[in-house]
Amino acid sequence: MKNKVLYTINKSELDKLIGILQRDGYRVVGPTVRDGAITYEEIESVRQLPIGWTDSQSPGRYRLNRRNDDHLFGYVVGPHSLKKFFFPPKQRLFGIKRDGESGYIFEAHQPDPPRYAFLGVRACDLAAVGVQDRVFKQTMAEPYYAKARNDALFIAVNCTEPGGTCFCGSMGTGPRCSEGFDLALTELRTTFTVEVGTNKGRQLIEALEHETTDANTSHLVDLLMDNAAEHMGRTLDTEDLPDILLKNLSHDHWNEVAKRCMSCSNCTFACPTCFCSNVEDSTDLSGNHAERWRTWGSCFTLEFSYHTGGYSRSTPAARYRQWLTHKLANWHEQFGTSGCVGCGRCITWCPVGIDITKEATTIANDVKRSRANQEAKRLEEVGS
Ligand code: SF4
Ligand code: SF4
Repeated sequence: MKNKVLYTINKSELDKLIGILQRDGYRVVGPTVRDGAITYEEIESVRQLPIGWTDSQSPGRYRLNRRNDDHLFGYVVGPHSLKKFFFPPKQRLFGIKRDGESGYIFEAHQPDPPRYAFLGVRACDLAAVGVQDRVFKQTMAEPYYAKARNDALFIAVNCTEPGGTCFCGSMGTGPRCSEGFDLALTELRTTFTVEVGTNKGRQLIEALEHETTDANTSHLVDLLMDNAAEHMGRTLDTEDLPDILLKNLSHDHWNEVAKRCMSCSNCTFACPTCFCSNVEDSTDLSGNHAERWRTWGSCFTLEFSYHTGGYSRSTPAARYRQWLTHKLANWHEQFGTSGCVGCGRCITWCPVGIDITKEATTIANDVKRSRANQEAKRLEEVGS
């Protein structure tokens, strides 16, 4: 936010910050290059950050490229969000053991999550945590999520160079981090400016060598943020969108998208806000031990819509429509916010490049055109 007090630290202070967090008992998670992508992993030093790397993203395409500088955070978002740390892809819920001839012992599984300190979190991913809070803390009260989330610390980094599939500017979630962080950094050539978001963040900055950022540098940060907001890879006009989508469930474009959609579920797994899950039971061969596991689920699978003897969404068109209308329309009613933070992952990681901004806009523009034509016709009839 403009006019906030900023502090400046040298980049060399970042290793010290990681050391302080480790000493305080945090497991530090940050971006690192792994398997040709930048993913969030546990890190121990600045050397593991993606120094001098950037990413290039477009529908169905992700590549890492070398930068011509040594920026530590010179990329946007990779395939992973923070979701996997708070809501693990596979989690044991409980076990049951046979006890004697007729008894059973119930074994509750309540693992204690690590205390995570996340370094390099983008504004869209912070917003996604806020969205998932509404699901797992306010609506469902999921204990593992609540504990991991409440203990976590967030050191965010503002985006100065949005990627080809980013549209956080349209969703009001970025590129500048506005809430949910302990510290928010902006990377400059040899320094970071730092905004303090919480008391914990203030203690951290006080433990580092820092100075108050001068007016010119603060202005530079504002300019970088404005420039980033103006250069989003994509845009989405959200005005009236929930109403348009929900009143046009039979629009032809759902079938057009379905001709390309492979129902592979990549978009839902990459999405930082999708929260559907399946429950799986298993027994060992002796029949003495059974377990229940929860795994990430996806509304793109046929099985996910199974209800007492039938499938409520038997076609890819129905499943894509369910996903998109939930994200951009029903989520507002259910959780009081959009289910989309504009991170662009579903566009980049869709193997056939289906683009949520393009598909929603195609329907919205068509509906608006037809509404305008009807209004023109009505006016003509009134006038004649
Ligand atoms: S729907 Fe797509 S752009 Fe929106 S938050 Fe999910 S992955 Fe990101
Ligand atoms: S929209 Fe793309 S990523 Fe999502 S299920 Fe269809 S093909 Fe897979």
